[in-house]
Amino acid sequence: MVQHSRTVTGSPAQKPKLAVWKFASCDGCQLSLLDCEDELLQLADHVEIAYFMEASSRQQAGPYDLSLVEGSITTAEDARRIREVRAQSRALVTIGACATAGGIQALRNFADVDEFIAVVYAHPEYIATLKTSTPISAHVPVDFELHGCPINKKQLLEVISAFLHRRRPQVPPHSVCIECKLRGNVCVWVAHGTPCMGPVTHAGCGALCPTYNRGCYGCFGPKENPNTESLCHWWRSELGTDKATLIENLRNFNASAPVFDAASRRLEQGSDKK
Ligand code: SF4
Ligand code: SF4
Repeated sequence: MVQHSRTVTGSPAQKPKLAVWKFASCDGCQLSLLDCEDELLQLADHVEIAYFMEASSRQQAGPYDLSLVEGSITTAEDARRIREVRAQSRALVTIGACATAGGIQALRNFADVDEFIAVVYAHPEYIATLKTSTPISAHVPVDFELHGCPINKKQLLEVISAFLHRRRPQVPPHSVCIECKLRGNVCVWVAHGTPCMGPVTHAGCGALCPTYNRGCYGCFGPKENPNTESLCHWWRSELGTDKATLIENLRNFNASAPVFDAASRRLEQGSDKK
């Protein structure tokens, strides 16, 4: 295992080293970085892209100044490898719903994974997987979590820039509703009775779905301190949403984010107060 380095490189002669790692995921968040296009060239002026298998087979050994980690932990090998990545990284940032909340594959956390394997694979005996899909923070210390499915590329550039300059990333923790109002949208819930997860969902997409007249389904995960009990109450009492539909909405890309997980289990057990 490579020694964990706290040394900052980055003199004009030696640019900071960036590494991008993949665990269980669809690669969409890594593609958000590649999607930066023009900005990526500017970024390459300031950092050495030392390890990014999605973009290049050229690999430089660690340690790395900043590691971006996509994907969740679903195998024993993943659990071993993330500790190795952490040990090689001065700062480690997780990107996307899989890395920050276990991803859509965390639906296994509410079911019997062996049953899924038996249905999906012709030869289940070849599959070695954990019973759960867990976020990176359940295994190693994480310096910052960037939400989204996939992440927003402008927020990603802001986070990279902030870590390179040793400052706090300017990523607002408020809800999609705030973004919706900033865009001057008419609220699809209030105006049309469309169920919307916006009040409890983390900002970052620019209120994309309500801008096109549909409800938010929570792909950016929970905002800071979301009031899921109130959301569930209003969905049920005002919109007439049944319990099963509400649980399905909470068990989405961020099903295992602790607040969404707890809210869906409360509903399932009939212990939600409202
Ligand atoms: S449409 Fe959704 S995100 Fe926009 S203000 Fe209404 S509840 Fe919030
Ligand atoms: S409005 Fe909601 S579901 Fe749509 S992109 Fe934004 S966070 Fe995701």
